[in-house]
Amino acid sequence: MAKNLQLAVDAEGIATVTIDVPGRSMNPISPAMEAELAQVLEEISGSQAVRGLLITSAKASFIPGYDLAEIERQFERQLTLAQGYTANRHLTLLYRRLETCGKPVAAAINGLAMGGGLELCLACHYRVLVDDPRAVLALPEVKVGLLPGAGGTQRLPRLIGIEKSLPLLLEGKSVKPRDALELGIVHELAPAAQVVAAARRWLLGSPSAQQPWDQKGFRVPGGANIAEPGIGALFAGATALVAKTTQHNYPAPVAILSCVFEGAQLPMDAALRIETKYFTRLMIDPVARNLIRTTFINKGKADKLSRRPLEMPKSHVTTLGIIGAGMMGGGIAHVSAAAGIDCVLLDSRPELAEKGKSNAATQLRRDLEKGRTTQARVDEILARIKPTADYGALRECELVIEAVFENRAVKADVTRKAEAVIAQTALFASNTSTLPITGLAEASVRPEQFIGLHFFSPVDRMPLVEVIVGRRTGQATLARALDYIGQLGKTPIVVNDSRGFYTSRVFGTFCYEGQRMLEEGIGPALIENAARAAGMPVGPLAVSDEVSLELQYKAIVQTRDDLGEQFAAPISWNVLRHFVEDLQRLGRKSGGGFYDYPEGGRKRLWPGLGAAYAPAAEQPPVAEIKTRLLYVQALETVRCLEEGVVTSAAEADLGSVLGWGFPSYTGGTLSLIDTVGAAAFVAECDRLASRYGARFKPTRGLLERARSGARFHAALSDP
Ligand code: NAD
Repeated sequence: MAKNLQLAVDAEGIATVTIDVPGRSMNPISPAMEAELAQVLEEISGSQAVRGLLITSAKASFIPGYDLAEIERQFERQLTLAQGYTANRHLTLLYRRLETCGKPVAAAINGLAMGGGLELCLACHYRVLVDDPRAVLALPEVKVGLLPGAGGTQRLPRLIGIEKSLPLLLEGKSVKPRDALELGIVHELAPAAQVVAAARRWLLGSPSAQQPWDQKGFRVPGGANIAEPGIGALFAGATALVAKTTQHNYPAPVAILSCVFEGAQLPMDAALRIETKYFTRLMIDPVARNLIRTTFINKGKADKLSRRPLEMPKSHVTTLGIIGAGMMGGGIAHVSAAAGIDCVLLDSRPELAEKGKSNAATQLRRDLEKGRTTQARVDEILARIKPTADYGALRECELVIEAVFENRAVKADVTRKAEAVIAQTALFASNTSTLPITGLAEASVRPEQFIGLHFFSPVDRMPLVEVIVGRRTGQATLARALDYIGQLGKTPIVVNDSRGFYTSRVFGTFCYEGQRMLEEGIGPALIENAARAAGMPVGPLAVSDEVSLELQYKAIVQTRDDLGEQFAAPISWNVLRHFVEDLQRLGRKSGGGFYDYPEGGRKRLWPGLGAAYAPAAEQPPVAEIKTRLLYVQALETVRCLEEGVVTSAAEADLGSVLGWGFPSYTGGTLSLIDTVGAAAFVAECDRLASRYGARFKPTRGLLERARSGARFHAALSDP
């Protein structure tokens, strides 16, 4: 079998290990690589001829981290705590052997080093990093619910001090070469061609083969003991910040703080045992599994356009038309131009089209001020956006997306006008958030080339696009639409047509449940705080104001008009009607809704809420509100799945986390049910239904799952 490591010893006694995982573009760490490194250590530590070890990579990057597929495998094995501890000690012990092997070890870090890759470097006695901004260093484990479990929580604080190490450990922040040098994570920067030579030079200088922390009298820079000045305050501050940002929903940051706090006061070997203990606990906790499944594995598959019909030839949009230069249209033009696509931005009047472009310019200026982009890049993006009021300008477009008012007649009108000028082969897409695509496609002469592309606001920051397949949408259209989303670098989910599709429909239940609570007399601050404590980014009242109460109201009226007899009003219809019809409080853009928005000040709950809905004498516990708000969304997702609106648990989860911010620690709306267990979930729904109404009644399919124990995700990775 091809080897991952090549070992060569030169005449001057420098043993060079070159990492080059066969058949991969990067060098992920695997058990096979670990075994080979162990063998190398065995060989060189006993060899008189070797005076030092140099580790480098043959790829453009150094090591991106541990192979996620291996971590996945460990989840599947469902190890006990004790078994997991033994398994997870392996890499830790290997790196410890490396730094205590008796020979000096230098890392020639020729590119990006993350996770277990950076931990390997930290276990080396000397680190030379290539002076290239792409060569970032990071310990990003926290982002998938884990901690750096191969010494990272111990070596980094010992190297650069606790205070400087915490942002890297707790936020997974990546560090560019210049900052890495300044922080003291690496000893030296070198141009690409000289990284290995610089590491070699150090080895030839007869350096020490002992880490600072293994030397007598070692002290963590800045101190580590609670009795030392500043240390207590540092941990108190960090603990409070973690509590605020995670709302106690994510165990990894707390575990990291514990590792640093407990470990930094102990000798390295004892400290490493502590780290493995916390790491193993996180591996067993459902949060890491949920995060990895949804935000890595399933997001990765969606990003690779796994739903694209394979037989269709690959396509590419060079010129895009956007009709409606409002908030969404301007945003779509911005992200498309940033992806190198020429954009024709059309509105009913030239000045409105110009305004859409200037909104994009404002956003780009903000990015420029924050150092996220350059002036040249801003100019390049804006030069690709051509505002117009002339439909003739759409002639060259391969795809036209409409983002005009959410009104069927207006949308039909622009569809007809655009199709009169665009090529026979061009696609037409609607960015509607609620109107069924099949109905909108009736205005099209080519309904098989009509599709829904539901972007989220703000378009430049929201990663998801919900692709809606209407009854007559063709497979070639789906493939081409997905290719376009791929060009933008956004994550698509593909859903079938329905009112509100998947995301707007489920997200609506969150808003309605919160509004209903208000009517029940639950304190508005309690509702909002409980939602955030559950992990939602914004409370249901605040987010309703953002979306606009008028928009929610209008969507319900439209549904009522469309469905007639079959219409069932959402649970909070009375509240919405009261706010829109009686109080004329329409939401944030119209001056206020559930909140007031004083000019230049912070928003605050509208003082009139108490008079509109008298607070109940007895308020429910926070846990009850959290459960209602999360379960109502999970249940609606199950209905969407059973009705075939969303067709896979993976996409349902992904859509919920990336689309409207359903808390990622749950893994998404359906992973939440798997985590709780279908039987327990159903029992809780029964209780909620008897107390609050039929919307909490579990579906037939859920009852079946509760009986059989079937899960939405049979394994970490769906086939
Ligand atoms: P908006 O009011 O900001 O913009 C609509 C734009 O369409 C305006 O510039 C208007 O002048 C233009 N327009 C109206 N009629 C036109 C016509 N006949 N010809 C050409 N231009 C016309 O609205 P928005 O928030 O950008 O929403 C646009 C669409 O996107 C709606 O269908 C909405 O449901 C959908 N959407 C909105 C959001 C959101 O968060 N706002 C999210 C997803 C989807």
